Amino acid sequence: MPRKAKTLAVVAHSPAVIPASKRTLSFGAKWQYAPAPESVVVKPDARYELFIGGKFVKPKSGQYFSTLNPANEKQLSEIALAEQADVNAAVSAARRAYDNVWGKMSGRERGKYLFRIARIIQEKARELAVLESLDGGKPIKESRDFDLPQVAAHFFYHAGWADKLDYAFSGKMPRPVGVCAQIIPWNFPLLMAAWKIAPALACGNTIVLKPAETTSITAMHLARILQEAELPDGVVNIVTGAGETGRALVEHAGVDKIAFTGSTEVGKLIAKATAGTNKKLALELGGKAAHIIFDDAPLDQAVEGIIGGIFFNQGHVCCAGSRLFVQEGVYRTVIKKLRDRISTLRVGDPLDKNTDIGAINSRAQLDKIRSLVDAGVAEGGELLQPRCTLPERGYWFAPSVITGVTASHRIAQEEIFGPVLSVLTFRTPDEAVERANNTPYGLSAGVWTDKGSKIFKTISKLRAGVVWANTYNKFDPTSPFGGYKESGFGREGGIHGLASYVRLD
Ligand code: NAP
Ligand code: MG
Repeated sequence: MPRKAKTLAVVAHSPAVIPASKRTLSFGAKWQYAPAPESVVVKPDARYELFIGGKFVKPKSGQYFSTLNPANEKQLSEIALAEQADVNAAVSAARRAYDNVWGKMSGRERGKYLFRIARIIQEKARELAVLESLDGGKPIKESRDFDLPQVAAHFFYHAGWADKLDYAFSGKMPRPVGVCAQIIPWNFPLLMAAWKIAPALACGNTIVLKPAETTSITAMHLARILQEAELPDGVVNIVTGAGETGRALVEHAGVDKIAFTGSTEVGKLIAKATAGTNKKLALELGGKAAHIIFDDAPLDQAVEGIIGGIFFNQGHVCCAGSRLFVQEGVYRTVIKKLRDRISTLRVGDPLDKNTDIGAINSRAQLDKIRSLVDAGVAEGGELLQPRCTLPERGYWFAPSVITGVTASHRIAQEEIFGPVLSVLTFRTPDEAVERANNTPYGLSAGVWTDKGSKIFKTISKLRAGVVWANTYNKFDPTSPFGGYKESGFGREGGIHGLASYVRLD
């Protein structure tokens, strides 16, 4: 069934693809912004090797795969494909480094390395942000103003913990776990690496990290930073490749702990593969977050938070607020405000500093978003999309709001991981909570109301690991993050996050 799209105002721009004469700015002005300085300075390498035992080494199979720029589908680099033999070498290097150096080092000394890594990341933040946007498609203002500052903050925060672990767990003396396998997704490539590497190192563990297939470049630049910081060889190893590389790592007998962030589907496979072993496991999986707007909420503020919470980073956010529950009395007003606001969002070149929504990370993800939106319309939803000219090459999806959604629609149940907001309604606070909890996931939620008492009453009943009130998607390394139900278990960040990288028995 063809998609039924209501046309709104003009939005899209993409200086990289659409000629300047045809570009239209959302507010009708004829002038253009200057290009961001970031758009010209950094070029990824033609080829990246594996990082094992402190050195860049060729994969034993001699095979490489390409990583594309999702904004134009051109190859950026070739990435080494790690197979079982490479994974074996990386785990052995991590074990040696653990036994001989890192596991024995005092927390105070470990902390110095972490501080050094954090400072070098800050120095190279601009370059890393550009590489992140090129390889993953996220707007430079996200990678520059959110991802990179958070990456550095995670290293700084955990550097501070390294010599204080003995005071972190009352009455218990924490010991490192050993060799940690860390597998991460493509939506926050460097930030997810930092979330995993920083606490593991602070607690005295060594690491084999596997980045996602479509976004390995910044991890390899992080490897260079680790060399520059003179981190002892083998403390962090990075093996690039596809799902098979991840599987080989998970099943390796020499691994003591697995930290995985990714889909619930793969999380379940990993849980099965580790059942009955002595491996410690933490899973950060998918989400289907709900926003609840009560009729007393500050509506402009709520709409702004909701827009940021789903269209930010193209909706490639596990805690993206993809379901919106609006109290019936303010439904019309909220829809009008949402409709007006999405018509001012700018879709286009990720390296343009004015872009709000960049490129979808891969063709496969774009296909998944399209098929779920088509299903939403076929099941009776009404699609509101601004009219915009999307570039011909690259992977793009216009910001979309689907109204008339009911709880049984696929779009209300399945994770979409794209810039698509489903809108549902409710009458009473109890109904809102019941409907928001009607999902197998439980990662995050947002509550919008003028009344503090209503906030506390609502959040105590929401089954979600993080609930934001009158704001959304606020992060800090001191604050734990993680899920309920099929969104996984274990926490990252804060003292709770440290607990998954130590043994207390
Ligand atoms: P994914 O397919 O599960 O992949 C995640 C990572 O696992 C990638 O490095 C992937 O490699 C690897 N992998 C694939 N199959 C594997 C296997 N059988 N054994 C071991 N590793 C395997 O997830 P994704 O599609 O890349 O990422 C999106 C998902 O991540 C969403 O569901 C999102 O909600 C979730 N996510 C959750 C959080 C959180 O904190 N809860 C944060 C970010 C993302 P390839 O890339 O080569 O496939
Ligand atoms: Mg790429």
